[in-house]
Amino acid sequence: MKNTKFIAVTGGVCSSLGKGILISSIGTLLKNAGYSVSIIKWDPYLNVDPGTMSPHVHGEVFVTDDGAETDLDLGHYERILDINLTRDSSVTSGQIFKEILDKERDGYFLGRDIQMIPHVVDVIKERLFKFASRDWDFVLVEVGGTVGDLEGEIFLEALRQIRIILPDKFMHCHLSYVPYLTWANEVKTKPTQHSMLLLKRFGLIPDALFLRVDEEIDNFVYKKLELNLGISSEYIFQVPTFSPVYKLFEYLYNQNLHIKIQNKFGLKPRDSDLSAWKNLVNKISIKRDKLWIGLIAKYVGENDPYLSVFEAIKSACYAHNKNVEIVVIDSEDLNGVEKLRFLNGIIIPGGFDKRGIEGKILAAQYARENKTPFLGLCMGMQVMLIEFARNVLGLKDATSAEFSSAAQHQIIVPMRSQLKVKTKGATMRLGLYPCTIKEGTKTFKAYQKTEIQERHRHRYEFNNKYRETFENSGVIFSGIYKKENLVEISEIEDHPFMIGSQFHPEFLSKPLKAHPLFYAFVQAILERQDNFYVAQYDNYQMEEL
Ligand code: GLN
Repeated sequence: MKNTKFIAVTGGVCSSLGKGILISSIGTLLKNAGYSVSIIKWDPYLNVDPGTMSPHVHGEVFVTDDGAETDLDLGHYERILDINLTRDSSVTSGQIFKEILDKERDGYFLGRDIQMIPHVVDVIKERLFKFASRDWDFVLVEVGGTVGDLEGEIFLEALRQIRIILPDKFMHCHLSYVPYLTWANEVKTKPTQHSMLLLKRFGLIPDALFLRVDEEIDNFVYKKLELNLGISSEYIFQVPTFSPVYKLFEYLYNQNLHIKIQNKFGLKPRDSDLSAWKNLVNKISIKRDKLWIGLIAKYVGENDPYLSVFEAIKSACYAHNKNVEIVVIDSEDLNGVEKLRFLNGIIIPGGFDKRGIEGKILAAQYARENKTPFLGLCMGMQVMLIEFARNVLGLKDATSAEFSSAAQHQIIVPMRSQLKVKTKGATMRLGLYPCTIKEGTKTFKAYQKTEIQERHRHRYEFNNKYRETFENSGVIFSGIYKKENLVEISEIEDHPFMIGSQFHPEFLSKPLKAHPLFYAFVQAILERQDNFYVAQYDNYQMEEL
């Protein structure tokens, strides 16, 4: 880490300001100026990881190559910076305390009492410096939560100490909300001033301030903030709301952020090439045909529980020069197929437990019988095979052992490795596994190769006892994990595109590199002869149903 520079981002006033997007933008500007960049998220919550948290409350659980269950922010970083992270990029208070308490039980601290400073904060710093020992030009650190949160204080203290240890190699950026009050017709900087006061309590004065505004504001407030807060107006930036969010990269570039960061570290400034992102933004902004893609799922109302799936669908549609409307349909409410008739494609994402499962099975049946392109992700593949067993093979009670342990025909069963598992956190089959693809299949056509690696997060698998019966009736098991003879991909032969994967391809999709399965799924939609309605439903409101 001899020359590694650190940039930390904190957030003030309230949550949901987009620290993850800001730090990814900073990373993009630096990466595209030719620097090597990696990134860490510090999450102040006390859970060891978000693996056991509800996606409804906490958003999607993102899985890395090495099988860490992490915050969805890591998904943002990977997608935008086009890097593959590991568990070292996801640090929580829970992990820090666990490490310390495990050491204490082992006798490491014998004779001493353990304190927040130095012991807890030291572990945070050690982990960061160990991470940086891989000699990145820049290591970016997002501090989760909002300044003022009690559990975040140890991380702010760590920042204060890092500045002392590495005065020339540390930059602190603070993102703060600047509301516009319609009734006063004014933007207000007071909340930002308060969040800066909180930072001062921890001995921190940021080097750069990012004003999160809904729309661009006049920069006369910069001078006022400079005087009030002691941050040079040169290092005050605006972060308005953009759609697509990638427009922010160019917006920050136009504020010379990349040059100012390099100046701050005494580097000879290099330009940053954003052309690939600008092309994508132009592509997305063109008004054109929209595809309607349905996600038949358990959590409705927000996108966060399925964030990577949303992103993967969008990337595949953009790669085909199409826009997209993703409709999340509550599988618990789905008892007829009316809502499905307007969809160009159907996706069943990952999930756990049996709530809403019959609606998902109905959607899979509809997709199979009507030849609607279908992609099943993890639980989605299991549902696709249960439906096939029930309605084609005539095994009426076919199900998964996850839903009924009493049923006679358990098409999906726990993996052998899971039978002895008793604890919940980090005990699923997690992370990257190889898979061999059968040539001549639709899956092979999508990937164009026989050896792939994909990320997993599940406890159940297809029951190999039924393999022959399925194969004799038109299911192709087109992807196998050979070492343990596990079915990883299945496809329906007599269908334009009905594919299910036991893994989560969405975790490896990138905005500038659509994932082959999602790309092929959208291609199958476009190849359908009866796609005449693609453009027609632009004004159609799903709620009317
Ligand atoms: N619940 C299923 C299993 O554990 C599917 C998991 C998922 O969709 N991620 O196998």
